[in-house]
Amino acid sequence: MIKKVFSSLTKDIGIDLGTANTLVYVKGRGIIINEPSVVAINQKTGQILAIGNEAKKMVGRTPSHIVATRPLVEGVISDFEATEQMLRYFINKVYEKSWAIMPRPRVVIGIPSGCTEVEKRAVEDAARSAGAREVYLVEEPMAAAIGSRMPIQEPVGNMIVDIGGGTSEVAVISLGGIVVCKSLRIAGDKLNNDIIQYAREEYKMLLGEKSAEDIKISIGSAYPDVEKYEFIMRGRDLITGLPKEIILHDDHVRNALNRSVKLLIRAIKDAVEETPPELITDLMERGIVLAGGGALLKGLDKLIMDETTIPVKVAEDPLTAVVRGCGIVLEDIDALKNVLLSTQYDLPPR
Ligand code: ADP
Ligand code: MG
Repeated sequence: MIKKVFSSLTKDIGIDLGTANTLVYVKGRGIIINEPSVVAINQKTGQILAIGNEAKKMVGRTPSHIVATRPLVEGVISDFEATEQMLRYFINKVYEKSWAIMPRPRVVIGIPSGCTEVEKRAVEDAARSAGAREVYLVEEPMAAAIGSRMPIQEPVGNMIVDIGGGTSEVAVISLGGIVVCKSLRIAGDKLNNDIIQYAREEYKMLLGEKSAEDIKISIGSAYPDVEKYEFIMRGRDLITGLPKEIILHDDHVRNALNRSVKLLIRAIKDAVEETPPELITDLMERGIVLAGGGALLKGLDKLIMDETTIPVKVAEDPLTAVVRGCGIVLEDIDALKNVLLSTQYDLPPR
């Protein structure tokens, strides 16, 4: 009884610790934080100047001693301390407006599937020192599948492809476990870089990362559409050093992205090849689900469908699939214990 009252008071939270974006879900309230995973640090003093939206605004605009970094690069925690600070900042933000006597929360965190034991512990310790009473870790592809409402506990094959900023993860899940998993460092950031490189090689033009991302989101695609799109690309001429404008068409961008998109498809095909035959039949019936921001690349679903001959659909609101999955786990931790990773303090029965 006391436990019940207690848990109705606490704000249990789910966190998607992504390489590009961190999202926080609060039980009973939904997603209340959705900010870039960026930390701005003064390198002279080691002091953290800004986190999240504020820090993102500084990217590319800082004096040399201030760096705006992403603590999770390519799906792994490259900066321990910054990750911890970022986690603490977001958890504290949830509690800003609540009473001091609020019982401490339970926290479910989605982490990249390639995380080492050390990294897992770092995330867990960070969450605890930020005030979590219990910490549960779940692999991101699993959380994305749960958030996409796939029947992951049933004895059927479910394929999820989560395309984030730093990494893409391809997973086949059955009976609450990951049967096949491929993780590759080709995702949104790589596509931005492809566009930067294309502009440099084809037009001798220097593009910023933000501009490249704008181009990708506005006219980027993986499959030709009946409609044609264009975009006025602005950057600096590498030869004259002056501003320059070029009209870019969708087929240019498709060319620029082609190589990376092919590698992503290769990974999906590899995962299909490693999937046991019974589960393949399920995939043919149920299709592949795409999640993460990269799932929004126009025509990607169509191209994957063409290349694999398996139906493909994009998850509803793919950018929030992981955090919604963490939220679903939070609502019923007991029923979903088998999908959680074992942690340092609370070992869930496997
Ligand atoms: P992570 O889980 O690593 O934090 P997200 O799932 O939040 O990553 O996805 C972020 C990536 O999605 C970024 O690289 C961003 O450029 C990309 N993205 C967002 N919207 C679109 C879009 N409409 N088309 C293509 N890529 C997109
Ligand atoms: Mg993600």
